[in-house]
Amino acid sequence: MGRIVLDKVKKQFGDVEVIPPLDLEIEDGEFVVFVGPSGCGKSTLLRMIAGLEDLTAGDINIDGDVVTEVPPSKRGLAMVFQSYALYPHMTVRKNIAFPLRMEGVDQATQDAKVAAAAKSLNLGDYLDRKPGQLSGGQRQRVAIGRAIVREPAAFLFDEPLSNLDAALRVGMRLEIMELHEKLKTTMIYVTHDQVEAMTMADKIVVLQAGVIEQVGSPLDLYHAPRNVFVAGFIGSPKMNLIEGPEAAKHDAKTIGIRPEHLSVSKESGTWKGTVGVAEHLGSDTFIHVHDTGLGDMITVRITGDIEARHGDTIYLTPDLERLHRFGADGLRIA
Ligand code: ADP
Ligand code: MG
Repeated sequence: MGRIVLDKVKKQFGDVEVIPPLDLEIEDGEFVVFVGPSGCGKSTLLRMIAGLEDLTAGDINIDGDVVTEVPPSKRGLAMVFQSYALYPHMTVRKNIAFPLRMEGVDQATQDAKVAAAAKSLNLGDYLDRKPGQLSGGQRQRVAIGRAIVREPAAFLFDEPLSNLDAALRVGMRLEIMELHEKLKTTMIYVTHDQVEAMTMADKIVVLQAGVIEQVGSPLDLYHAPRNVFVAGFIGSPKMNLIEGPEAAKHDAKTIGIRPEHLSVSKESGTWKGTVGVAEHLGSDTFIHVHDTGLGDMITVRITGDIEARHGDTIYLTPDLERLHRFGADGLRIA
């Protein structure tokens, strides 16, 4: 089991309040991602759940029990960090078995649990190697293996893939998702990368300055961002946000249109501009359009390849069904 409830959890470092009182419910078996810019309090929140950081106020509840005063080792949670924190002189086998040895688990049980963890992480061939003889991705898998053998109520990941190169990150992302499918254990995953959040999460918690801006499924956040911050933060390329007279036409302070919800024409359309740069990805083309009179540059995403030369005149037309409207308070207008 792994249902975690945060009840008015607050954190102050000295006089500085980094997390104002915050409520959150995480269901058993959920894959929850905390996402937000660097310094918004993601690690602090995760460390409070783990018990590595005291609460200034509020309570944390795991499976019906208040654990606020319970030490980390007794909370039944396992944490995986960006730095793998493996013992360099121990083999993979010993590293994975380490928490079991500490608990005095018998050898046969240790062997069985290590074998099962190694199997689900494809580490079977590496058990006799030392961390120095492994790639970054393999080391992170060992760190995850060490968490698995503890059979925790929940796994807590703090930016576990940040040290890996881009290609490896994508692979490990899939492996962690597959692991979640297999184990069905609650996972809380912290990242500043909204693509990671969108691809991995059942539920995303968007944080800014210690405040929850929105909680929802990836598609909730994509289709109905609660405010301008979430609108601009979730989605790649970013949503175009437009203020001024063009927004006022729609009775809004700010309107938003995602790059994929604009169509382009060389002849006519709602907004006229000139092509700045075009990024050709093959599957898609991103065209950055200047001189529209809408304030910032506007980005358009077209499926497939399209010819667009620097300086060309281009017309853009938003799909009005997909237009987002926000009021003076920054909140979404229904
Ligand atoms: P994130 O993980 O989202 O990047 P953190 O949780 O690490 O953010 O930090 C949130 C805020 O708390 C930051 O402003 C950071 O400087 C501050 N902070 C974190 N740990 C401490 C500490 N031990 N003492 C004082 N301030 C801290
Ligand atoms: Mg952090």
